[in-house]
This record gives sequence, C-alpha cells and structure tokens, in this order.
Amino acid sequence: MQIKKSSTVYDAIIVGSGAGGGMATKILSEAGLKVALIEAGPFFDPKDPVTQTQMKWPWESPRRGASVTRAFGDYDMSYGDWKVDGEPYTQKGDTNFLWWRSRMLGGRTNHWGRISLRFGPTDFKHKDVDGLGDNWPISYEDVKPYYDRLDKMVGVFGSNEKRYNDPDGFFLPAPKPRLHELYYIKGAKKVGVDVIPSRLSILTKKLNNERGVCFYCSQCNRSCNAYADFSSSSVFVIPAVNGTGQVDLYVDSMVRTVTTNDEGKATGVSYINKKDRKEYQLKGKTVVLGASACSTARILLNSKSKQHPNGLGNSTDNVGRYLHDSTGAGRAYFVPALMNRKTDYNEDGVGGMHVYSPWWLDAKKDKLDFPRGYHIEVWGGMGMPSYGFGFDVSSLNKYIGGAIGGYGDKLRKDVKQFFGAVVGMAGRGESIALRDNYCEIDPDVVDQFGIPVLRFNYKWSDNERNQAKHMIDTFDEIGQAMGGIPMGERAGKDKDWGLLNPGQIIHEVGTTRMGNDPKNSVTNKYSQLHDADNVFVVDAGVFTSQADKNCTWTIMALAMRTSDYIIDQLKKQNI
Ligand SMILES: Cc1cc2nc3c(=O)[nH]c(=O)nc-3n(C[C@H](O)[C@H](O)[C@H](O)COP(=O)(O)OP(=O)(O)OC[C@H]3O[C@@H](n4cnc5c(N)ncnc54)[C@H](O)[C@@H]3O)c2cc1C
Ligand code: SF4
Repeated sequence: MQIKKSSTVYDAIIVGSGAGGGMATKILSEAGLKVALIEAGPFFDPKDPVTQTQMKWPWESPRRGASVTRAFGDYDMSYGDWKVDGEPYTQKGDTNFLWWRSRMLGGRTNHWGRISLRFGPTDFKHKDVDGLGDNWPISYEDVKPYYDRLDKMVGVFGSNEKRYNDPDGFFLPAPKPRLHELYYIKGAKKVGVDVIPSRLSILTKKLNNERGVCFYCSQCNRSCNAYADFSSSSVFVIPAVNGTGQVDLYVDSMVRTVTTNDEGKATGVSYINKKDRKEYQLKGKTVVLGASACSTARILLNSKSKQHPNGLGNSTDNVGRYLHDSTGAGRAYFVPALMNRKTDYNEDGVGGMHVYSPWWLDAKKDKLDFPRGYHIEVWGGMGMPSYGFGFDVSSLNKYIGGAIGGYGDKLRKDVKQFFGAVVGMAGRGESIALRDNYCEIDPDVVDQFGIPVLRFNYKWSDNERNQAKHMIDTFDEIGQAMGGIPMGERAGKDKDWGLLNPGQIIHEVGTTRMGNDPKNSVTNKYSQLHDADNVFVVDAGVFTSQADKNCTWTIMALAMRTSDYIIDQLKKQNI
C-alpha cells in the first residue's frame, strides 16, 4: 500500500475538532503556531442554510422531525449517534456500553445541552473525602484561571451563589424561570432541595461582533445560526481557520495512528482520507489528541511500534482503563394544575432549562448509602409540538378520568388541555472510576477503513445503583410536592432503579487519565503523555474522576491550559 507523505512539518497536529480540539486550534493558531486540524467528519457551519434545521417547522420533515436517520430526531444536529455506519464497536460479556459519536466539524458540541458547570475544589480531591478513586494531580486553584478566561471568551449565563463546590464565575444574565420551572422550584423547596439559575453557554447579552444574542427559539440542539450558543465549529474552528491563516483543515480524514521515531517520540499522524480511501501522513513537532475520550484511547492503542509495543502511552497498561460515565435516571409527572394553560403569551426560552438543582447533600453527614452526588435537570413547558407531542397525548386522560382515544375535535381538545402539563426531572451523577471498566482493541473486528475497533467492558456497582434509587425517590418527593402524578412505571431493584446504561449520558471520561505516577496514569498534570513528551490529550480522557457536573466546561478549561503549556514548551525548545 502506498502512503502519501506531506513535506510540511506542522508545529501541532490536532486530531478532532470538538470541545477540546477546537479550543487547542484556537489557542495554538492565535499564538502563531502552524496547525493542522484533522477531523473525521465533514465541514459543518451552523449558519449554512443548506444543512440548517433550526427554525424549520415540524411538517417540513417527512415524519414531523421524528427519528428516521438521527437518534434524537431528524432535526437534531448530530451526524452520527450511537451507531455510525461502517464504524462498529463491540462489547465484552454482558456489557452494554453505548458510545455516541458525532462525525462533523465541531463534534458533539453542535447539539450538546450547553450545560456549562465548573468542577469544584472537592471534585478534584474527592479521595480525601471518601477514600475512593484517586485525587487529581491538580486542584481547583490550578484550573480556576482557565475557567475564568473561558467564561469571558465563550460566554455563559448563570448566577453567583457562593456555593463551595459549585464555584461562581463570570456570568451573563440568566433567563427567568418559566411556569413549569416555578412549579419545580415550589416542589423542590418544599422537600429541601436547592434550586438555582442554570449555567448554560448561551449568549443572553452581546459578547462580540462575531456572534449574535439568543432570540429564544429553544432549539440549541439544532445548532444556532446566530452563533449565540457555543459550538466549537462556529466559535473556535471557523474563526481560527478564517482569521489566523495558521490552520490547515483536513475534514473527512480519519486518523489511524500517531507515528513515532526511533526515540519513541511522535513524528505526526497517519490518516485515511474518507473520500479517496487512501492513507496519508502528516508531520508535526507535536500531536494533540482531542478525538474524544474513547477515540483518543483507540488511536493510542492502535499506535504500536518497536518503541511502544503495547500502544503509544500504554507502557503501564492504563490506556482505555478507568473509563467512566455520569450516572443517569429520570421520571416525568403529569401536573393537573398546569392543564388548560393560556397559550396567548410568550414562554420562549433558551434551548435548555432555566433552573436546576446542584447537589445539595453531603454523603457522609447525611449518611447516604452511596458516595458522591448528582444534580437535577428539569424539563417541561410549552415548546413547539413536534412528532406526537406527549407521546399519545390522549392517554393523559387516564389521570383525570377522561376518555382515551379519538380524532378531530376530541383530539384538538386533548392537545389544548394537556399542552404544557408534563414536567420531568433527570439526575446526572458521579460514578467512581474503576480500573476494571475499560475499552480495549477488539483483536477480531475492523471498521470500513481497516482500523481495529474498540471493545467495551463496563459494569455499574452498587454505588451507582443506590444513587439512582436516591434520584427517583427524590423526584417522586418533588413531583408529589408540586402536585404531580408520576407517569410510567417506577423502576425497581430488578431494573437497577432506572439507572441508564453506561455511556448513555454521553459524559465518558478517564481513558487516558492524568496523574503524577506513570504506573497508574497515562499523562502528567499538563495532559502530556508520560511515554512521549510531544503528545498531548485535550479531551475528557485525562479526567482522573468525574464530578456531579457535566464534563465539557472542564474539557475546555484543561485544553486551554494544555495549549498554553505547549506554547511555552515549544518556546523553550523542551519538546
Ligand atoms: C445530546 C448531548 C447532550 C450533551 N449535553 C452536554 C451538556 O449539557 N454539558 C456538557 O458538559 N456536556 C454535554 N454533552 C457531552 C459533550 O458533548 C462532550 O463532553 C464534548 O463534546 C466532548 O468534547 P470532545 O472534544 O472530547 O469530543 P467531541 O465533541 O465528540 O469531538 C471529537 C471530534 O473528534 C473527531 N474524531 C474522532 N475520532 C477521530 C479520528 N480517528 N480522526 C479524526 N477525527 C476524529 C470526531 O468526529 C469529533 O468531531 C452532551 C452530549 C450529547 C451527545
Ligand atoms: S435558543 Fe437561542 S442560542 Fe439556542 S438556537 Fe435558539 S437563538 Fe440560538
């Protein structure tokens, strides 16, 4: 096979254009480095009217926007979901890990929920509290300056609340709670659960001339054509490509391996061009991996050489290990007091919740039967009805003794009376990183490009199961306190109290974790491989532990910190 080699030597080759890769592209190119950005998916710009789904009516889609080609509905802006054609992954034993991949410029940030939470001081040192997992080799104080810069650079709304482990930041004004959220607040307060304004990376106020301000269409998952929400494509990559002249963008290009020399240092990457299916090589002084936690592990494990026979960065068998996702469970409630709502007033909002509940308890003091915590996300309201709103709206009659079924006037009456009367809650919690939860290379399966695929091995423990039980118990208390009737069956012990599959919350982290000791970690505290000092990881692979927070704000803060370190080390000619 002939491999086409480029003669350019880049200062940095960045793999993946999502949250981490996008940040590295911005910081490194703005510092004057010559950068190659390699992305497995096609070019994508949220502003492009050809691909845009924002502001489309339900009836413009063949099935009213329901899922035909995309798992979260055909208007959801993700190319790829749990399955990507021609790119399988496999499971060991009875594992059922779900792996979401978005193959496009900007990766998953084109449709993510924009919940942008800092980790707190305890989150970086949780082993000190309960003896479980490991502490990070860095503390909140190391990351704080980067969170501060990130808030100002990208924009996030919220409120300063002086909560120790949910640190304050530089917030834009938060939108007001809507009626269903006022009901949630009432219910939560009655049972002693805190509620504060959400923290979402959506511009409620002008930040700069390149981006517009949110006009409350509630459709952030479709990606914003005004660039008012954060997507790595619109906020980092496209401005860096157009503005710095320092970025060569390679799309539809699937990295197979990091190439190395006789000293074991990286020399660049080898990738398949998906259009002509040929293999190419690029040369770089540094390689920055931001392909997402599991894809980065896959690239490293596939990068075997004489110097790295077990895969790059894997001399101590840690790549792929300590994989962990957030826990998740949810419940919905029918609230009769929210029936027959007036529909002649504007209840538009951002594409996400306006309030949420950060973790409000203390596992030790409150004598809980699980460690760590979770936050509660709330949904409901009068969004644009799309496919089968309420999933058979007429069935809600069972809660008020009405007749189920019917067409014409009966259906119209049901839609009007039940519109906006359902409120849901979802818990997102911290699991403990375990060495035995991992992804590895499946020796028998390759993808359509001939690249060996990942095989997952993952089990929840009672820590996570007990946490899920606490979630649904709490939701039921809040639901009752706001006058709601629980919908659907409550999951019992046999169904792990409704605990969702690992991977399903799409916060997978830990596969190339950072640490001071190379024996039990893959990178040092600057996300630099212990085994090859010119290779860096800027995705969630480096997380030593999750928190009861969503992970992306921390991915970006750490990617910024690592990018600064790369600039410094190149200047000093240390790498
Ligand atoms: C529906 C949904 C809602 C979410 N909501 C939130 C939220 O509210 N808050 C939050 O914090 N997080 C949320 N997340 C998670 C968040 O999207 C991810 O944590 C974040 O995008 C991860 O960033 P990343 O850069 O590591 O990976 P990604 O964003 O996945 O980007 C990785 C990129 O690398 C490319 N790539 C992969 N392999 C290769 C290869 N071999 N060669 C070249 N390119 C490659 C991919 O195509 C992709 O573009 C959500 C995710 C989903 C799907
Ligand atoms: S809700 Fe606001 S930020 Fe989100 S897509 Fe609509 S206008 Fe853009």
